[in-house]
Amino acid sequence: MEMLKEETKLENEYTHIIASAKINYKGETYNLSGLGPFHSDANREIRKSSYEARFSFFEEHANELDNLYDNMVKLRTEIAKKLGFNNYIELGYARLGRTDYGANEVEGFRKQIVDYIVPLVQKLNKKKKEVLGLDKLYFYDSILFKDGNPKPQGSPNDLVEYAKKMYNELSPATGQFFEMMVNENLIDLVNRQGKMGGGFCTAFPTYDRPYIFSNFNGTAHDVTVLTHEAGHAFQCYSSRKQPLVEYLWPTLEACEIHSMSMEFLTWPWMDLFFKDKSEKFKYMHIVDSLSFLPYGACVDHFQHWVFENPEATPKERKNKWSELESIYLPDRDYDDLAFPKSGGIWQGQLHIYQMPFYYIDYTLAQTCAFQFWIKSQENMESAWEDYLRLCKVGGSMPFTKLTELANIKSPFSDGILKSVSEHVYKWLEGIDPESL
Ligand SMILES: [Zn+2]
Repeated sequence: MEMLKEETKLENEYTHIIASAKINYKGETYNLSGLGPFHSDANREIRKSSYEARFSFFEEHANELDNLYDNMVKLRTEIAKKLGFNNYIELGYARLGRTDYGANEVEGFRKQIVDYIVPLVQKLNKKKKEVLGLDKLYFYDSILFKDGNPKPQGSPNDLVEYAKKMYNELSPATGQFFEMMVNENLIDLVNRQGKMGGGFCTAFPTYDRPYIFSNFNGTAHDVTVLTHEAGHAFQCYSSRKQPLVEYLWPTLEACEIHSMSMEFLTWPWMDLFFKDKSEKFKYMHIVDSLSFLPYGACVDHFQHWVFENPEATPKERKNKWSELESIYLPDRDYDDLAFPKSGGIWQGQLHIYQMPFYYIDYTLAQTCAFQFWIKSQENMESAWEDYLRLCKVGGSMPFTKLTELANIKSPFSDGILKSVSEHVYKWLEGIDPESL
């Protein structure tokens, strides 16, 4: 109990350090998420200088963040040993409720990402460089179109009205669900003074109600909140009649299937939000989803190494991160940004500090969501039936049983990532981003 208390204390310290950021940028003060939109500005100078501002904050707190993580790794290892595990990896998996796969399966999955996805992302980067008309692509060139990434068109209220229309047309169940969310004030979307940052979905089981929290910032992410978090909320609401409160949600990798697949199942309505930029949004959505996989696997591989080597020094951890980056993200070039160049960028990834081993879940779920995307293009009606069936059973089954029930292949099954990514890449190849 004492050790768990200590672990929570360390986790809160991370939140505190990150939340304390008051970054001066071009005469205004921002926190880290407030700086976010500048990182994808159409102007390269703004992208680069906003990252410099971000990393100067991390540079200032480098020792603190190093020591904090070092303490966390040692403490978690001690907890695991005390409970009779060999290392924290075993306990970490148990804590996430993974009953039907282990570190070996995950390692095999990461290998598929290196073999099949990394080369595809390299091709996408080459294309991006051409589209942006750059001689060299740097880390901060995080946009896909010369005039910047597409943004939703309309006020926050407009976006909610579009979402109502969308969910009404998608199915009777989603229509009723979203009306309820709006009418009962179960969504808090708009940023305001003093409001906590971030976005999430939670639930109040006693009332059979989910809840969505976010901070709109004018980027495409505002729409993704309305589809991703609503996917989580819709699943939870659909599972409300499950007999055990533990069945309200499945394990986390399965939860992300509902949210990420909802992002795709709502594609036919994206012109409501993006108007003439909806095709740009779809292209960006797929490119980002595919490009995310190697980063997600890199974070996961790093954590396995960290907990296999709990005695490593902070310097050795940073070196290992750089080594793994060259495998998973070989095109990454930080230019002269010193902090990420020295292997420290992972310190901004909250999951590494607060939710060890969770990160791979997004890549497992993405592999499932891509299958829903493919299905929805072939037959929307049956894709929706599969999705609804999956949502209703909540967490009454483990991950790989849920994929069976949803008529999709588990990411651990042989060759699935290869065939899915080939399909996705073929779709991308048929699009000329410059003509969008
Ligand atoms: Zn999610």
